[in-house]
Amino acid sequence: MIKPFFPQLVYIEPGALDYPLGEKLKKKFTDLGVEIRQTTSHNQVRNIPGENHLQKYRNAKSTLVVGVRKTLKFDTSKPSAEYAIPLATGCMGHCQYCYLQTTMGSKPYIRTYVNVEEILNAAESYMKERAPELTRFEAACTSDIVGIDHLTHSLKHAIEYFGKSDYGKLRFVTKYHHVDHLLDADHQGKTRFRFSINADYVIRNFEHGTSPLKERIKAATKVAEAGYPIGFIIAPIYLHEGWKEGYLNMFHLLDEYLPPSLRDDITFELIQHRFTKPAKRVIQKNYPMTKLELDEEKRKYKWGKYGIGKYVYQKDEQEDIQTTLHHYQEQFFPEAKVEYFT
Ligand code: SF4
Repeated sequence: MIKPFFPQLVYIEPGALDYPLGEKLKKKFTDLGVEIRQTTSHNQVRNIPGENHLQKYRNAKSTLVVGVRKTLKFDTSKPSAEYAIPLATGCMGHCQYCYLQTTMGSKPYIRTYVNVEEILNAAESYMKERAPELTRFEAACTSDIVGIDHLTHSLKHAIEYFGKSDYGKLRFVTKYHHVDHLLDADHQGKTRFRFSINADYVIRNFEHGTSPLKERIKAATKVAEAGYPIGFIIAPIYLHEGWKEGYLNMFHLLDEYLPPSLRDDITFELIQHRFTKPAKRVIQKNYPMTKLELDEEKRKYKWGKYGIGKYVYQKDEQEDIQTTLHHYQEQFFPEAKVEYFT
């Protein structure tokens, strides 16, 4: 059973101790005997211990930086939400295809922001601009926020904040099952709690350090019982030997654990596996033994932003994925909504 994340090393940035959460985290880690280093700036967190790149990379993923979010301008987050709300960056998981490897390349450590009130105030301004239209915020664009929230409770705070808001909705996705502290949050149905799921083969081979499929599904049942609207992101859909059976088994497990009474409001998001050339380089550097299929020749090139195109599956393969998974969804969860396939 995978244990909740616990850092081996903690850095505290200047300014973080001016906030109650910063103080609280410092006390918590001091009491627990974790090594704490004070930094003078965020960029100083360079000296992660380790003798080579791989050791440093691994150690960074068990390092927590307690910091202050300076940029309160939110990125957009299409197609699942209007904005990304930045509560943390980085993740302790070792998913070989994780997009954070390229976006956070030089900073693979986990950074949590203690100025949660300021971040929520910024969210308020975005909501006001669009009101009376609803504004959706995605909290898992730059980290697996659920996986670290048992330490900080900033996500819980945000869930309750959006619970009280008139025009805001929150959503996030996780590969972790450590959800118990979020079950009693006063969410008012305004947070969609999503789980990233995949065929067992894919999780076992490419998502090291995350919760097994069954644990994620059991956690989804718990949060649905707590009244949250739930969702499943099937991503990345990865073609492997026996993939149709693998994804069918995944739906069987969902069907087994989710009682019919909890199926009124479920969404599915389907994302096929893709990679870019820079991502391929980073993956092969961080996981030199990877079995992940990253052969440009076998894929279809899709033009992307800033001239960085993606390699997706061939058109007929995409159609096969879509038809197969839609069929499973119809068979097991006809009442659910598929939000998109990309
Ligand atoms: S759990 Fe999510 S954020 Fe963390 S390494 Fe895996 S894909 Fe990346």
